Amino acid sequence: MEIRFMSIGSGSCGNCYYLGVGDYGILIDAGIPSKTIRNALKKEGIAFESICAVFVTHDHADHIKSLGVISAKANIPVYATREVHKGITQNYCTTKLIEPMYVRYVEKEETVTFRDFSITPFEVPHDGSDNVGYFIEVGEKRFCIATDLGEITETVASYVEKANYLVIESNYEEQMLAMGRYPEFLKVRVSGPRGHLSNQVTARYLAANFNEHLKNIWLCHLSEENNHPELAYKAVAMEMGRYGIIPGKDVELTVLKRTTPSRLFVL
Ligand SMILES: [Zn+2]
Ligand SMILES: [Zn+2]
Repeated sequence: MEIRFMSIGSGSCGNCYYLGVGDYGILIDAGIPSKTIRNALKKEGIAFESICAVFVTHDHADHIKSLGVISAKANIPVYATREVHKGITQNYCTTKLIEPMYVRYVEKEETVTFRDFSITPFEVPHDGSDNVGYFIEVGEKRFCIATDLGEITETVASYVEKANYLVIESNYEEQMLAMGRYPEFLKVRVSGPRGHLSNQVTARYLAANFNEHLKNIWLCHLSEENNHPELAYKAVAMEMGRYGIIPGKDVELTVLKRTTPSRLFVL
């Protein structure tokens, strides 16, 4: 069974990822306007109405802003942990609350079967009310998304290492953050164990733990202030090169743009 993947937005301006199977699909996070999502899908010939559910990683504004609007417009359920749902209702950035009829709860490490998708949320260390990554199986294909996390914990690694297709955060270039204009408290937050992954940490992890069953890596959630797509790509490609792994040959490596949708990947 083919999986179709597209990043519609990735980074602090708003996150939204599409995963499609057959004639329907799901979204992971909805931190960008529903109109942007609709238009991006339409360009690939996908109807907004074919979205059947949204799964939420955590309750930061860049991941949740449009949930209420989208769930009402597309008439779809929103899956998140109890704490994340609670956080969403208290977040001032939420433009419209999610109607109770669309609220669905997930538990970490408990697989939800949603039509062809088997979806397992797992704990990631970050400073939202609660924070998860998703491990998603469709038939034999294993897709994993780990965004907004300060560290690659053992739990995170146990899911990441099983993936054929991996979306992983590469938020900031360490030197840019250190030398940049962020106030000290923000530098500490971003680089802390409940903040974000740097290019360097992601690169070292990916290179040292490379698996031959890993086919695609997408670097996500790049900082506007403290990163450049070329730097993120270079950091990962160089570190992999040390282990004899060549992006483009041994694995596909793509940097996801912050505000421009990616192409539709058919996996
Ligand atoms: Zn975020
Ligand atoms: Zn976050």
